[in-house]
Amino acid sequence: MQDRMCERAANSPGSAGRLQRIITRTRMIDLTLPWSPDCTPVPGHPGIQIEDLHTHEEDGRSNSIARFSLHTGTHIDAPYHFHPEGQTIDRVPLSCLVAPATLFDLRSEAHPAKGITTAHLWSIGVSPDEDLRDRVVVCFTGWAARMWNSPDFYSGNPFLDQSAVRWLVDREIAALGLDFSVDQGSPYPNHQLLLGRGIPLIENLTNLDRISQREFVIAALPLPVEAGNGGPARVVALLE
Ligand SMILES: [Zn+2]
Repeated sequence: MQDRMCERAANSPGSAGRLQRIITRTRMIDLTLPWSPDCTPVPGHPGIQIEDLHTHEEDGRSNSIARFSLHTGTHIDAPYHFHPEGQTIDRVPLSCLVAPATLFDLRSEAHPAKGITTAHLWSIGVSPDEDLRDRVVVCFTGWAARMWNSPDFYSGNPFLDQSAVRWLVDREIAALGLDFSVDQGSPYPNHQLLLGRGIPLIENLTNLDRISQREFVIAALPLPVEAGNGGPARVVALLE
């Protein structure tokens, strides 16, 4: 039914038709993990808990209550997460999160519990002087798609070597998206460095294998939790 509505709108004259044709020409890929109690939480954080407030059977309507860490599943880390003077999630500009993106396909270079270095970036064809200013770089290893509901999600993950993180910071990227935790573990040096430079992290992406081009537009929209250190997000790739 939705498709029929879109087709009707695209064929209508005037600005509604023109705007609808832009949407029809755009392919959308949802990069968001399923949001459920199956999501592996960050170690030490509670998992997602959802309980009924009202049910169809007893109340004639359905409502739910959820309790969860803001850093569960696909979510965005605000600079404030590691830096008290950093931006909170409600203040991160949307222009950093809805932007041109470049996909680094690191599947051939990433291995469990191993750091990804600049040498790995060069070997997948990234140029050391590539202009990535104000772009969202998305690092793709296949880890989240495989491990999002496994207890090893945060223990055996590939991570970024500091050489790669320093290079990304120097390129003045708008944000960094990943399908694995950027750090191997405490004390989270990559979180410190990236968030300290005001670069938000778009964490736990999935479906990156469905992006068939290196350049695309990403729309990563976090819940604007007031004064929040992060927020769950729906993240979408937009392709021509
Ligand atoms: Zn986080």
